[in-house]
Amino acid sequence: MSHIQSIDPATGAVVWEGAAAGRAEVDAALRRARRAFPGWAALAVEDRVAAVQRFKAVLEARKEQIAAIISRETGKPRWEGLAELGSMIGKVGISITAQAERAGERRSDMPFGAAVLRHRPHGVMAVLGPFNFPGHLPNGHIVPALLAGNTVVFKPSEMTPATGAAMAEAWAEAGLPEGVFQCIQGARETGEALVSGAIDGLLFTGSAGAGAHFRHLFADRPDVILALELGGNNPLVAWDGDVEEAAAIVVQSAFVTTGQRCSCARRLIVPDTAFGNDLVEAVAHLSGRLLIGAWDETPEPYIGPLISSGAAAKARAQFEVLVERGARVVEPFGSVEDRSAAFVRPAMLDVTGVSVPDEEIFAPVLQVCRVADFDAAMAAANDTRFGLSAGLVSADDGLWQRFVLESRAGVVNRNRPTTGAAGSMPFGGLGESGNHRPSAYYAADYCAYPMASFEASDASGNMGALDGKLR
Ligand code: NAD
Repeated sequence: MSHIQSIDPATGAVVWEGAAAGRAEVDAALRRARRAFPGWAALAVEDRVAAVQRFKAVLEARKEQIAAIISRETGKPRWEGLAELGSMIGKVGISITAQAERAGERRSDMPFGAAVLRHRPHGVMAVLGPFNFPGHLPNGHIVPALLAGNTVVFKPSEMTPATGAAMAEAWAEAGLPEGVFQCIQGARETGEALVSGAIDGLLFTGSAGAGAHFRHLFADRPDVILALELGGNNPLVAWDGDVEEAAAIVVQSAFVTTGQRCSCARRLIVPDTAFGNDLVEAVAHLSGRLLIGAWDETPEPYIGPLISSGAAAKARAQFEVLVERGARVVEPFGSVEDRSAAFVRPAMLDVTGVSVPDEEIFAPVLQVCRVADFDAAMAAANDTRFGLSAGLVSADDGLWQRFVLESRAGVVNRNRPTTGAAGSMPFGGLGESGNHRPSAYYAADYCAYPMASFEASDASGNMGALDGKLR
């Protein structure tokens, strides 16, 4: 039996270790989930609402404790761990509203009786989570899936098993019936056993590579609902305005969570003018002032380390490929003195006129592209196989109208960071960023299928339709 362990990336200390579930255990979990499904699905929605409310109460009571686990395991500063817990708690109320609004029951009177729209759960849902929001993002699948009446088998990222274990404890304390929510630990092999098992849905947030793999894997399984929330190579067009304010938007977009948000800006598109030059300089200056440190340090850092030294090495290699291709270094990909190898400094490259790969660099690396006019800016922004987030910094309403019309992305912000998102709105991307099953508020849509019914209380009146048409 293989083991996994998670490591505090700031100190190298082991945070969690334990056995990885093998195929037999995964299948046993799926059988328990299958057995639990009919009873859970048959409950009145109010009973499931009460269960997720109990879960919310547990999260509220343990907010500090679980936020500290998230911060320690991912390296994100305490303020961010607490914000993530806040999102998880907020998700419950939002999901209850979304379930009622988008997936509730509607009845209209008909001459024969009624037309009724219901939403029915799919069955057993597998949830695979990423490491960067190890609580909030899987929670964004789990809460709506349970509310809709599905049962869930959740595998957290192998980088963040302690967070998964803390979530499982919270659900256990909420007192769900046996088999309704289960957490299994493990790395890719465990995930593979889960997705090849008897599931009715895969709710996945993670890398585009894994998402593409799942699209192929389930090509001949139309019975399995597939919701994919993947990465991006997100553009931020900064066109005019106050240079300092614009730089603050760029820095937050590109470097928050040490660049480990799917919605982070990866590409900064600026006019080839004095404004563009000043902005690049201001971004470099501001990013050099960001406090970097371990999650529990005082004063609180803005960013912590990357998830691992391996992630830092991978991002450094991607940075070097760009340099080899001709990109000019604005800010180097630097390590941080007296810190573990997972700590890196925000880096910037000017890739104007350089052919660069359309890949996500999941780290604080920003690529600057200077363009002659707004047509070229729009073309550059959309020149990607992804389509998750995009942003415009401009006070010009006309440019914003164009940006909204022409942007190919699911989250399109103006004068706000590209990472700005809310549970009360849909969240999802186009192209290689997803599969048109947006999450957040719209998760209710993929957690249940609509069932249309025409209903009469007895069979009378049906012969009338054949009147005069019979031999
Ligand atoms: P990842 O794809 O490596 O792993 C995610 C989960 O899937 C893990 O639990 C992993 O064990 C499992 N997994 C990976 N490959 C698998 C396979 N072939 N079979 C079965 N299970 C498999 O992602 P990550 O590195 O943890 O997360 C970072 C990525 O997630 C980034 O690309 C980021 O952009 C993306 N992301 C997207 C969103 C979004 O909402 N669109 C949000 C956060 C992160």
